[in-house]
Amino acid sequence: MQAVKGMNDILPEEARLWLKFEEVVRHWLEAYGYRNIRMPLVEPTALFKRAIGEVTDIVEKEMYSFEDSLNGDQLTLRPEGTASCVRAALQHNLLYNAPQRLWYNGPMFRHERPQKGRYRQFHQVGVEALGFAGPDIDAEQIVMCARLWKGLGIRDVALQLNTLGDAASRQRHREKLIAYFEQHKDMLDADAQRRLYSNPLRILDTKNLAMQELVAGAPKLIDELEEEAIRHFEAVQAILTRQGIAYEINPRLVRGLDYYNRTVFEWVTTRLGAQGTICAGGRYDGLVEQMGGKPAPACGFAMGIERLLALMQEDGQVAVPEALDVYVVHQGEQAESMAWQVAESLRNDGMRVLMHCGGGSFKSQMKKADGSGAACAVIIGDNEAAANAVMLKPLRKSGEQRLVALQVLPQSIHELIK
Ligand code: ATP
Ligand code: MG
Repeated sequence: MQAVKGMNDILPEEARLWLKFEEVVRHWLEAYGYRNIRMPLVEPTALFKRAIGEVTDIVEKEMYSFEDSLNGDQLTLRPEGTASCVRAALQHNLLYNAPQRLWYNGPMFRHERPQKGRYRQFHQVGVEALGFAGPDIDAEQIVMCARLWKGLGIRDVALQLNTLGDAASRQRHREKLIAYFEQHKDMLDADAQRRLYSNPLRILDTKNLAMQELVAGAPKLIDELEEEAIRHFEAVQAILTRQGIAYEINPRLVRGLDYYNRTVFEWVTTRLGAQGTICAGGRYDGLVEQMGGKPAPACGFAMGIERLLALMQEDGQVAVPEALDVYVVHQGEQAESMAWQVAESLRNDGMRVLMHCGGGSFKSQMKKADGSGAACAVIIGDNEAAANAVMLKPLRKSGEQRLVALQVLPQSIHELIK
């Protein structure tokens, strides 16, 4: 049997780097006062259609949707976290008293063509600030990211920034875009033709190289922006500059989901080939209301964990395994019973203990102990058990094995580990 195409096993060697990553991420989020939230992997299909937008890559062709065979409900494996997070916040009234800083981490599912940095099950850390209107929270989220890259030892990521303005300017821009693309209809691919009237902004997001020149010459939203959106965007930039964050304004940055407005940003690296965006997000002031809540402005972002880890690995980063402290070798009935007791009590003292399981001669057990990387072996035969003592043998340092009384065993091991 094989795993589903585009869905990966993360084997123990690699999982170590995931654990290291998750630890850094958790401390980083705590440092900014974000609180963890966990949503189901499966949601009603309607949630994503409503939140992400019907005419988007995700909803049109990337969702794993199915019918619940018991009751006929239309369900979808979540392709992203923002919609679920907002749904959960509304369902449980989290925005009633105060704004919320929330984060989550977990698998997302999109039916895409698998390639390096693009999978069908992939993982995101998502960060959502719900109920914040000012440019300070946009800037804080970007500053946060910069701190994380440092904490992860990631270099060569650049920040791209844009503003999508508000509803009125988008409407004006939309009309100009349609007029422009209508003039060049013969150069539009099938996707673009289909979206010309339903979602022309999405055409700017095309990955079709043949259309790049056309897209580059399209009317720019920045020329349509209202005063307030401009002020908001300038305030975000002012904070970034003050905090020493370099950025590039990319007027073509539109993001592939419908819910964004005003500030949008992407962190991009040139070191992962075509799949260079490691983190993306922005403001989505209309989403809460659109999903049936009292209007509440919001801002968030998500990063692709596989891409971040690939970048760390590019840099030669590895997570060193936590070495075992003790390997417990035992033979005989009394010895086994004592081995259990010793192993559990050393674990009470905070040590990493591997107790030999599966029997075998002393010699073969010692071979396993040597190969385990443990600092020492605790060897117990029935003689030792009768004497309430064990043999302690250093495995990483030199030194002979010696008989040690149980009472002083933890102390003797600590000296060996030091
Ligand atoms: P792309 O343009 O690469 O398809 P996107 O705009 O669809 O990205 P978002 O929905 O903004 O991506 O997701 C945020 C981040 O999640 C991306 O920047 C990327 O790092 C990661 N990501 C998205 N889709 C995948 C995938 N299929 N496999 C791995 N990582 C992904
Ligand atoms: Mg995509």
